[in-house]
Amino acid sequence: MSCEHDELGAHVSVAGGIDRGPARAEEIGAAVFQIFTKQPNRWAEPTVADATADRFRAECARIGATFTVSHDSYLINLASPDPMLWRRSAECFRGEVLRAGLLGLDAVVTHPGNATDGDRVGGIERNAEAITEALVAVPGRTRILLELTAGAGTSIGGTFEDLASIMDGIPEPHRSRLGVCFDTCHAWVAGYDLAGDFEGVWIRADDTFGSHRVELFHLNDARTPFGSRLDRHANIGEGTIGIGPFRRLMNQGRFTSVPKILETPKGEDAVTADRMNLRLLRRLRTEER
Ligand SMILES: [Zn+2]
Ligand SMILES: [Zn+2]
Repeated sequence: MSCEHDELGAHVSVAGGIDRGPARAEEIGAAVFQIFTKQPNRWAEPTVADATADRFRAECARIGATFTVSHDSYLINLASPDPMLWRRSAECFRGEVLRAGLLGLDAVVTHPGNATDGDRVGGIERNAEAITEALVAVPGRTRILLELTAGAGTSIGGTFEDLASIMDGIPEPHRSRLGVCFDTCHAWVAGYDLAGDFEGVWIRADDTFGSHRVELFHLNDARTPFGSRLDRHANIGEGTIGIGPFRRLMNQGRFTSVPKILETPKGEDAVTADRMNLRLLRRLRTEER
């Protein structure tokens, strides 16, 4: 089965070993994919054996992977005001960047975390400090992509301004390794009206962090209402965002080559579900031509 070799892909399972990931991307016809490099709900920090890394890289080469990324652990909170949790999170994040480098991944996607004491400015500073520390400790080409979040509660990263502030807090040359992961579901529920004011959203992006810094999209429709801050992903075109903004994203000149990864519901049969969403997105692109 061959890959399409376009910019579309999905989050794939690494059940049975990290080196199984590329074959699962191939199964859905994608040369772009996202993985977890460890159990995302555990603190345990596995190392990647050389043999595993070699097999993973060989598999990526075999399928012709063009963009590979990991998503950091859900437990990590780089904005935490609790010194112990912050330290543990910073070490866990450094481990993630290290594994990504060993595997030859292009990037690590990170959720900016929660300022649980309500001090957002402090949370942003702590986040920038932890990311800087990891980049100093782990040199290399792996990029760090700050994911726009749904903006619930004390979470950082639910506004374009937050993303810009975190990057501003990271000194050069490390700042140059930072980019943005734009999740369409998160943007929508955080109050960015992709359906009603698509151009306006991107003007706001340009006025803050700069849309040229979007290096990855997470393409997800939303099961929850606009502005609800509730993060529930839906299949493309089946949620409250609707098909329109996805058609526009697929055909925007400045975004056509930016990798786009699905995190849509997999149901009973992940391969069929991912292939269905990928097919739909590819059709949206050709419709416009
Ligand atoms: Zn996402
Ligand atoms: Zn989400």
